[in-house]
Amino acid sequence: MERFITVLRGQGYKITPQRRAVIGALQECGKFATAQQVLEHVKISFPDMSLDTVYRNLSLLVELGLVHEIHMRGRDGNVFEIVTSDHHHHLVCLGCGKAECLDFCPIHIEDVVKAEENGFKVTSHALEFYGYCRECRTAS
Ligand SMILES: [Zn+2]
Ligand SMILES: [Zn+2]
Ligand SMILES: [Zn+2]
Repeated sequence: MERFITVLRGQGYKITPQRRAVIGALQECGKFATAQQVLEHVKISFPDMSLDTVYRNLSLLVELGLVHEIHMRGRDGNVFEIVTSDHHHHLVCLGCGKAECLDFCPIHIEDVVKAEENGFKVTSHALEFYGYCRECRTAS
């Protein structure tokens, strides 16, 4: 929580009670929470909070690099993960909709240099791997 507050303040954002509640809910939900799950937690203290407000706050945290947004391609929407470890990517199962952390980045610095050839400055990247997890593969 402290890290979030420091970064938000440093970027000139106010720490509203709602914002604090969204961060708290994200921590309580643990890994890979959907915006809906975050909302359910937040609603205990802020019954009037809308899904829209949760999304807006989550997007801000993603923008500031405090939270990962994992694109699920599924019915329940994207999931969010607090950034605690080094830069990494995710495996997303199209069968059961589960996400897993991949503990490395397959993008090499040479690739980034290549992407910047025409004068584009790369500041970050996002990448998800889609497929089927072990359980889903054995079930079919
Ligand atoms: Zn699966
Ligand atoms: Zn992860
Ligand atoms: Zn990467």
